[in-house]
Amino acid sequence: MTDLSSNGKLAIEKANRVVIKVGSALLVDIETGLLRHDWLLGLGKDVAQLKQAGKDVLIVSSGAIALGRHLLGFAKGALKLEESQAAAACGQIALAHAWQSVLSGCDLKTGQILLTLTDTEQRRRYLNARATLFTLLKQGAVPLINENDTVATSEIRYGDNDRLAARVASMVSADCLVLLSDIDGLYSKPPHLPGAEFLPMVDKITPEIEAMAGVAETDVGSGGMITKIEAAKIAVGAGASMVIAKGNALSPIGRILDGARCTWFTPSATPTDARKSWIAGSLEVRGTIAIDVGAVNALKRGTSLLPAGVRKIEGEFERGDAVAVVDESGKEIARGLVAYEKPDAMAIMGCQTGDIEKRLGFSGRDEMIHRDDLVLMGS
Ligand code: GLU
Repeated sequence: MTDLSSNGKLAIEKANRVVIKVGSALLVDIETGLLRHDWLLGLGKDVAQLKQAGKDVLIVSSGAIALGRHLLGFAKGALKLEESQAAAACGQIALAHAWQSVLSGCDLKTGQILLTLTDTEQRRRYLNARATLFTLLKQGAVPLINENDTVATSEIRYGDNDRLAARVASMVSADCLVLLSDIDGLYSKPPHLPGAEFLPMVDKITPEIEAMAGVAETDVGSGGMITKIEAAKIAVGAGASMVIAKGNALSPIGRILDGARCTWFTPSATPTDARKSWIAGSLEVRGTIAIDVGAVNALKRGTSLLPAGVRKIEGEFERGDAVAVVDESGKEIARGLVAYEKPDAMAIMGCQTGDIEKRLGFSGRDEMIHRDDLVLMGS
């Protein structure tokens, strides 16, 4: 883990996987409702530099509603839910197009992913979204993510991209989340009030820190400091460091790397450890998978669990549920998120990878439990 107290920017330099969240107020000119192209070009170059340094980069971009409301001719002021959704439907096309043209100008590929709250909270959908994100990253692309505003009702909406970005960071085990905003960080009270002090570092999110968050400072997007603190709780809990930084400069990431003032939140564990303790400790175990000696040894060497080594399956589980992996004497060896629902897992039990498709009638995944979703017990 990076020691942020000495130098926060090291968290970006050392990171393997960075999520950058861009607020609407940066992307869209409040007066004209138009996209700020030059700024987007600058950020595109920053992203390209991070990619050249060998990092995975994911972008969570707001701006669909802000762009779309102008395109559809809505008046200033609060929109009804269905008006926001119509604005998002219209603006998302423009937003994705702008990002694609900027990133392709930097020789980068991109793919659009629109998520709702359930996609990041329901394990089955979560695994599907994560698999798509990982495949995009493996192919060198920069995933471009936003909330699927047009289908989400008020109950299943995030409503703000700060928390969505933190969930994405947790989902892909990112080690750094950058929230680019129209404010440079956290203050002890609203910055225009006398005596407001700037906080460069937050090691622990205490009730006092939460009380400092105040209310939203902008009416262009929906995120104020409260949602940023909520995002910080999710990110640091998942092992990512998080920074709130003012993003309006033409090279906002470069500015952070040059030591600009911003607020860093320190994680208490690495992403891998945080994920493993989540799998090992906080999920209800729905089933048991007994495996042979060969598979036990393979798991101890750090491999995934393949169907070939599975001898017996008990319990009722869906894809994405937590299961215990036991040896033939019943001793728990590992715990993990199973990639198949019980009937499919039964169908491929003991079978070689090449036979999975024949048994299932569709091309399934090679692993019963992927090693990223597996934690050895007692390790
Ligand atoms: N998803 C919204 C949009 O693209 C932004 C939500 C937010 O402001 O955080 O317009």
